[in-house]
Amino acid sequence: MVKHIVIAIDGPSSSGKSTLARELAQALGLRYIDSGAYYRALTWFLMERRINLSDETGIEALLPQLNLEFRYNAATGQCAMFLNGRNVEDSIRQPAVSVRASEVSALPIVRKFITEVLRKAAENTDVVMDGRDIGTVVLPEATVKIFLTADEQVRLQRRLEQLQRQGMQIQEQEIAADLNRRDHQDSRRALAPLRQAPDAIVIDNSHLTRDQQRELVLNLIKEKLNLTNPIYEGNH
Ligand code: C5P
Repeated sequence: MVKHIVIAIDGPSSSGKSTLARELAQALGLRYIDSGAYYRALTWFLMERRINLSDETGIEALLPQLNLEFRYNAATGQCAMFLNGRNVEDSIRQPAVSVRASEVSALPIVRKFITEVLRKAAENTDVVMDGRDIGTVVLPEATVKIFLTADEQVRLQRRLEQLQRQGMQIQEQEIAADLNRRDHQDSRRALAPLRQAPDAIVIDNSHLTRDQQRELVLNLIKEKLNLTNPIYEGNH
């Protein structure tokens, strides 16, 4: 008898993970957790305090002061990251934070801390979590693992549109360089690199609409739950 559904979505930057995760959370009544928001919030906190990233001891001493919580409202689809009770959603989405988050997330002490926080947040909860190492490291026992990917040009276009929606005017070249740098760092780091779990379902959504993608994944999830967990006892 399975008590909890855990859906892990991993993939490179701007592959559409959070859009898909939010839609699945809404459709299935799961809690959505954006793991990248945790790395971003911690990064923003360190940037605000001008902490040197090579000062691992200093960073470690600060971690116990941090209370990180990603709040998601399934009814409205709205979500926001809270750091010590303060909504930091806008601050953590700045491009400067994106670049730094990739460096900060490679630090062993940071990975250990955030991984524990994420596991705790997913404890005893039906959850959909997206990130880079959810199916491989954070929640390796996930019920369903999706590895989401898309052509580089498609991801670049999505990132451009996302930043424009946020009112940011940034050169296309700059965004392309940022995406490349982050993907490179995220997949080459020593600890928990971006990698497809052996049991993940790979979806290239370059030529899929949002609706097509959602239906495809919902069907995969239903199939998987029926096959492996016929007596699921959740409240859905
Ligand atoms: O997903 P998002 O782009 O918001 O994540 C910001 C950064 O956080 C990523 O570039 C990556 O370096 C890091 N990250 C990670 N592991 C995760 C989620 C995000 O290393 N599970």
